[in-house]
Amino acid sequence: FDEVEDTDEPTDANTVVFGLEVRSPPNVVPPGARRRIDPSDTVEDEEAARKPGGSKHTIHVTTADLRWLPQGDQEAELTEPARPVHSDILITKLRPGQAISLEAHACKGIGKDHAKFQPVATASYRILPQIDLVQPVLGARARALKARCPLDVFDIEDVVVDGAQTQRARTARPRDCTMCRECVRRIDDVEFGEDMAAYVKLRRKADHFLFKVETAGQLAPLRIVHDAIGVLKHKCDTWRKEFELSGGALTTD
Ligand code: SF4
Repeated sequence: FDEVEDTDEPTDANTVVFGLEVRSPPNVVPPGARRRIDPSDTVEDEEAARKPGGSKHTIHVTTADLRWLPQGDQEAELTEPARPVHSDILITKLRPGQAISLEAHACKGIGKDHAKFQPVATASYRILPQIDLVQPVLGARARALKARCPLDVFDIEDVVVDGAQTQRARTARPRDCTMCRECVRRIDDVEFGEDMAAYVKLRRKADHFLFKVETAGQLAPLRIVHDAIGVLKHKCDTWRKEFELSGGALTTD
């Protein structure tokens, strides 16, 4: 499908049309009869009121109620009927006697044109933590270090040092580190609590970014990141060409 520009007319090449027609049955409680449920009503009264024709009957209108209305050659060109990806998204609720009738037009676009096309729900990045053990953390100190970390970043491994069997801490899961600094915090009156900072150095890898991209469902996260990098590269190329055209020169120094 083509993307729609502001000035474009909707056609079968850029728009998918859905119809929605739902009517809730009218309330059939006889005139003059009690229409409201009060606290003295029994469970049976409540259940009866929620059935079709009852005063509390409510219809849930969902994406399953949307009907595709093929335009032009769409029926021949599409291998399967157009439909919402999820059929259980609530659109509205109808009370007795209410009805909804609408025609919805679905079209392609990008988030730069309007936020409704934005495929990303939440996106963030952080720099990869680098936890260096600058001198061997052995034996009881290794176990104390592992116990201190709330994210279980460290592992303990069995090693032989100077001919003796012992245990050594190693950084196993740096991605899980939140830089809370608990492992280097000075804690008085606790074994190994005062000088752990002499063994552990917390840094960040300046050239390693961890992105977290949550989508709204239209596109897979990997596709979004891939396309975003493509857009960024295109912008860099454009900027470089403009720069060179204006007499500038880029070097790799
Ligand atoms: S900074 Fe916090 S999360 Fe990271 S290794 Fe130290 S204790 Fe664990």
